[in-house]
Amino acid sequence: MNPDASHDGAPIETDVVIVGAGPCGLFAVFQLGMLDIRAHVVDILPRIGGQCVELYPEKPIYDIPGFAAVTGQALIDNLARQIAPFEAAFHLGQMVERLDAVGTPEAPRFALRTDTGTRFIAKAVLIAAGGGSFQPKRPPIPGIESYEGESVLYAVRRIEAFRDREILIVGGGDSALDWTLALQPVAKRVTLMHRRDDFRAAPHSVDQMRALVASGAIDLRIGQVTGLEGDGSRLSAVICRDDRGGGFTIACDTMLPFFGLTKKLGPLADWGIGLTENQIAVETSAFESSVPGIFAIGDINTYPGKLKLILSGFHEAALAAHRIHRYVHPDKRLTFQHSTSSTVIQAKLGSA
Ligand code: FAD
Repeated sequence: MNPDASHDGAPIETDVVIVGAGPCGLFAVFQLGMLDIRAHVVDILPRIGGQCVELYPEKPIYDIPGFAAVTGQALIDNLARQIAPFEAAFHLGQMVERLDAVGTPEAPRFALRTDTGTRFIAKAVLIAAGGGSFQPKRPPIPGIESYEGESVLYAVRRIEAFRDREILIVGGGDSALDWTLALQPVAKRVTLMHRRDDFRAAPHSVDQMRALVASGAIDLRIGQVTGLEGDGSRLSAVICRDDRGGGFTIACDTMLPFFGLTKKLGPLADWGIGLTENQIAVETSAFESSVPGIFAIGDINTYPGKLKLILSGFHEAALAAHRIHRYVHPDKRLTFQHSTSSTVIQAKLGSA
C-alpha cells in the first residue's frame, strides 16, 4: 500500500476514487486492479476496515464465502494482502466533502476534495461509504466527553486491553450482551446495566448472561446512569437511578455504553446523486447511481432486494468494475477472464 499522498498543489489524476475503505471499498481495489484500473481510496477513519474493524474486530463472521469463520480484523487483513499487488494509494483520516461533475456526458470527469485539502480528478467514482459517517450514540450524561477514549469507550478493539478492568456495560442489545460475555473472562468484574429487565439481544446470549448472573460471575443492575465520578479522565464510579427513582453507585474504572449508532449521511447528501431514504439508489446491472460515472456499492446503496451483507458488496464491486472499465478505457475491449486460467491476471498478481 502506498503511503498517504496528501496534496496541496495540483489535483491527483487517477482512474477511480473510492470513497470508503470498508470491506467493500477494499475489494473494489482488487476488482478494478484486475481490469487495469488505478484507484485512490479515501476514508475518514485513521485505519482501513470500516465497520469490521471499528465495531467488531474480534467477532467471528460466519457468512463470508470460503471462510467457516473469520474475525472482522482478520477479514480486513486478508483483503489488504489480496489487494496489495495493485498498489492503491490510501488517504486515511480524510473525509471526501466535495464531489463535482466536471467533464462532458461523453467523457465524465469528477473533481473531489477532502476536508484536509487533497484534491482528485477521476474518470469514475465508486462510493463505498457504508452507513455514511457513523458515530456511536452518546448517552446524555453531563461531562461524559472528558472521559471518552480513556474510561468511556464505545467499541472494543482489543479484548486484552480490558484485562483486570472493572467494567460497567450499559445497554440491552446484541453489542451490550456480546461484550458482557466476551469480557467477563478477562475483566476484574463486569456489571451489566439496562433500564429494564428485558433484553433485545439474541435469546441465547440473554440465557448465557443470566447463567453468569446466577453463578455470581457478573452483576446485573436495572437502572440508568445519571452521573460520573472520577478525576475528569479516569472514572472511579458511576451514579445511577433505578426505575423507582432511588439512587445507587457502581464502582468501575471503565464504562462501555452500547446505545446504537447514529448514521449521518454526511456530505454525500449534497453531491446531487439520487437518494432513496438516505441511501444511494442504484440500478443492479452495474450499481451505477443516477449520475453516470458515479457508482455505489456496499451498505450505502439501495435497490429492490438489497441485503446489507459483505458478500453483496463484493458482488457489487465486481459488476461495477466491469462497467467502470468503459469509462476508464473506452477504446479497449473487455474480455471476461477467470483468475485461475488467465496468465495476464496472474502476472498482475505477481504469481505467473
Ligand atoms: P463500511 O464497513 O461501513 O465502511 C464504510 C467506510 O466509509 C467507513 O470506514 C467510513 O469511515 C467511510 N466513509 C463514509 N463516508 C465517507 C466520506 N465522505 N469520506 C471518506 N470516507 C467515508 N455483515 C456480514 O456480511 N456478515 C456478518 O456476520 C456481519 N456482522 C455484523 C456485525 C455487526 C456488529 C455489525 C455492525 C455489522 C455486521 N455486518 C455483517 C455488516 C457489515 O459489517 C457491513 O455490511 C459492511 O461493513 C459494509 O461494508 P462497506 O464497505 O459497505 O461499509
